[in-house]
Amino acid sequence: MGTWFQWIADVDASDDEAPVLAHEIVTRLVERQIILPEVVDGAAFGAPGHEPGPEWTAAVTTSERWTPDGVRIDATRTVFHGGQGGYDWAQCPRCDRRIDGDVANGLLDGVEVWLSGDTSAHPCSGCGSGVPLSEWRWDEDYFAFAALGLWFWDWPQLGPTVHECVRAVVGTHRLVYHAGKL
Ligand SMILES: [Zn+2]
Repeated sequence: MGTWFQWIADVDASDDEAPVLAHEIVTRLVERQIILPEVVDGAAFGAPGHEPGPEWTAAVTTSERWTPDGVRIDATRTVFHGGQGGYDWAQCPRCDRRIDGDVANGLLDGVEVWLSGDTSAHPCSGCGSGVPLSEWRWDEDYFAFAALGLWFWDWPQLGPTVHECVRAVVGTHRLVYHAGKL
């Protein structure tokens, strides 16, 4: 078993703009009645979050009618992780060189520094670029290191509506999406 979750993270949002963008995304999702406006303690897998709104089924692709849990919005640096399963590689966005599991694990040594506000750049063995932690690509989109993102707890597969709402707010920022289980 386990708890099913999906997240969408904006890895290009700066620390300053993340809260502004988050507010705008929430506004749009509330307008469409996909989520309720209030933040409720414990609503999102035990964390504060927004409960599903009356039109939440418009956001999903299946007709399953279980009632989902809430939606958490993170607007500070957060490790968006894949839960169960894992990854085999990380990939440099500049030269597309893939580094394997053990070397990729080394990138994670920079997470604490990144959380404290650093770019946590790591040299790529292919092109020599110092690549910020948030820019690396991960197998299965297992990680996103982002200052902005949304977690949907126990929602059926999301359709395009939520992605479109987020995209309309963040413009050309790189979005990473993952569905997984804890
Ligand atoms: Zn490279």
